[in-house]
Amino acid sequence: MSYGPSYPVETVASVYWIRSRVKAMRLTILGSGSSKGISRVGHRDALCVDARKKGSKSRRRRSSALVEQAGRRILIDVSPDFLSQMKRARVSRLDAVLLTHAHADATGGLSDLGKWIRLRRHDPVTLYAHPDTIRRLRRSFPKSIIPIPVRPFRMITIAGMNIRFIPVRHGMRGIATYGFRFGRRLFFASDMDATSPAGIKIIHGTPTIILDGAFWEYKRLRGHFSVPDTLEFAKTIRPRRLIITQSGHSFPPHNLAEAEIRRLAKQKSCPFPVKLAYDGMKIEI
Ligand SMILES: [Zn+2]
Ligand SMILES: [Zn+2]
Repeated sequence: MSYGPSYPVETVASVYWIRSRVKAMRLTILGSGSSKGISRVGHRDALCVDARKKGSKSRRRRSSALVEQAGRRILIDVSPDFLSQMKRARVSRLDAVLLTHAHADATGGLSDLGKWIRLRRHDPVTLYAHPDTIRRLRRSFPKSIIPIPVRPFRMITIAGMNIRFIPVRHGMRGIATYGFRFGRRLFFASDMDATSPAGIKIIHGTPTIILDGAFWEYKRLRGHFSVPDTLEFAKTIRPRRLIITQSGHSFPPHNLAEAEIRRLAKQKSCPFPVKLAYDGMKIEI
């Protein structure tokens, strides 16, 4: 009598079943730049000159991202470049909006979002953010946006995606700021210079992390990571890959910056690949 093959066959079948239930997710970087974007009017430095070349990855709109799964779409941050970002990504419908924090580079497009919703006769859009972010912005919400306050560390299912709201530090004066963890797969934090041990515990081991790296070189307590900080922080998280976003004016042109980041990651013995985000970058998750 043999008890042999039944166990391995079932294991293979259940692995297949689990895989088939994991829906593909995609994140598109709509803006990879810091608060003023690149290029800047009247500048003749190497970065801004490169950014004006057609198709240049050095051209950076204000930070924003689109997360899609099973035909549903969540926008992270409504930047002052919102209309051009929607046009460029050919987005005509949104299921929800998440805000990282209340600074103008993350929220300056709220009235444009209101107009965009009206023009399309789009249903009102729910917007999720920290209670403090909603309080600060209470006069900026058009009627077509329904703000929903979310307490730190809560997990909510939005447009079919399980999203955990992780508080992160963005400057010592402490404006309430979130990073977002999607399922167990992705952590996105475009504005941060630290997080709490509780936050690190949750995001530890997340395979794909997209992090603030606004400053090219180390700057103490400026509200954002510098590239060396981002690499050091990512090492504590142990991801499978790191993508750096929110790149500021202190960066060299994109291709040079990416090569230099790879060199630095090697020097720091980062055991994961590192990429530099650019506008329009698509990340399959
Ligand atoms: Zn410049
Ligand atoms: Zn900010």
